Amino acid sequence: MKNEGIEGTERFVSPERGRGLRALRHFSVGELLFSCPAYSYVLTVNERGAHCEHCFTRREDLFKCGKCKQAYYCNVECQRGDWPMHKLECMAMCAYGENWCPSETVRLVARIIMKQRVTTERTLSEKVLLLKEFESHLDKMDSEKDEIVQADIAALHHFYSKHISHRFLFFFFWAVSIFNDVLSRVVFFFLSVALMNHSCSPNVIVTYKGTAAEVRAVQEINPGEEIFNSYIDLLYPTEDRKERLLESYFFTCQCTECTTKSKDKAKMEIRKLSLPPEPEEIQSMVRYAKNIIEEFRRAKHYKNILHIFPSELLEMCELSQEKMGAIFGDTNVYMLHMMYQAMGVCLYMQDWDGAMSYGEKIVQPYSVHYPAYSLNVASMYLKLGRLYLGLERKTQGVKALKKALAIMEVAHGKEHHYVAEVKREIEEQK
Ligand SMILES: [Zn+2]
Ligand SMILES: [Zn+2]
Ligand SMILES: [Zn+2]
Repeated sequence: MKNEGIEGTERFVSPERGRGLRALRHFSVGELLFSCPAYSYVLTVNERGAHCEHCFTRREDLFKCGKCKQAYYCNVECQRGDWPMHKLECMAMCAYGENWCPSETVRLVARIIMKQRVTTERTLSEKVLLLKEFESHLDKMDSEKDEIVQADIAALHHFYSKHISHRFLFFFFWAVSIFNDVLSRVVFFFLSVALMNHSCSPNVIVTYKGTAAEVRAVQEINPGEEIFNSYIDLLYPTEDRKERLLESYFFTCQCTECTTKSKDKAKMEIRKLSLPPEPEEIQSMVRYAKNIIEEFRRAKHYKNILHIFPSELLEMCELSQEKMGAIFGDTNVYMLHMMYQAMGVCLYMQDWDGAMSYGEKIVQPYSVHYPAYSLNVASMYLKLGRLYLGLERKTQGVKALKKALAIMEVAHGKEHHYVAEVKREIEEQK
């Protein structure tokens, strides 16, 4: 079976993992495997007015939809192009006014359903079949996710159609919430991207250009080899990754990284002490780390409701590092997790020196724990480089930006505007 617009790869059924994608030819590091347009997408509500709803161009002279007066377009062509999707919302917005506030997921799902309805009669394409395949995962959903999905379905019914089967919607929300990619301005759903199976040692990276996803090799790929993307943050040790994958994606990862566990020892670094800690002490500290990570996540998420100040969040990070530091080394991933959070709070509070010193501690161990080409590592170098430059530390700044650039040229491709932007920043320092 061939994939639309995807040369050099094919869909296949692997005995262990079900559907997957494999290479038909050799791909070198940095080479583009395929670019795939978003199956569906939606502009986030708070970007309305700044970007065209159809092509996402940012410009000052956009004009309003005459009916709802809330959607903005470049011109009549863009408005016409968006109408099959916008009409879903236009009427609801007119009817509900200020009370119209479905989540981005709800809006995206409504569009996917509409697109399916419009296209199924004409071409019962492979893509539609692929969407149906996700349905087999339905029964494995736990009750917590169930609740969230139920709330989303209720919201969708409130604003859109009442004639969609409940079971169908349920699976849809699950698939979209798992496989969508949330960017700052747009929410996307890519089918070909969702087709790739997961590995903790992925051979491709997905980046975005406009409303398309681009998939590039980050390892040499030979003909016949399966193409693997990563669904999760790869910082954490095997046990944590397996837990996460089972919880959210319902499978047990059997990639080489999960079998050899080659990075676990470094990721779980224990402080060198004259009296090494007992295994029970380590276990109990791991439990503490996981609890504090979850506690911090909630505190950050509900900070406005619970009236938690940034300084209190920072204190939480510092105290937990102090406690964990009795057993864990500085490059231990749980320590790094809290340092990363602390760096985020410092950036928010515009404490540039604080952010920089956390960034310096994080970046080296990050490049050891993550795969050779990682967007997490690139983004850390980028943040650190910009902090250095802001603090007049030019040499260090340029050095960090160059590290980021080396990764981005492979992951994003040399032509990407992010790459051009970083190059310009380096150039400006000369
Ligand atoms: Zn436009
Ligand atoms: Zn409208
Ligand atoms: Zn794995």
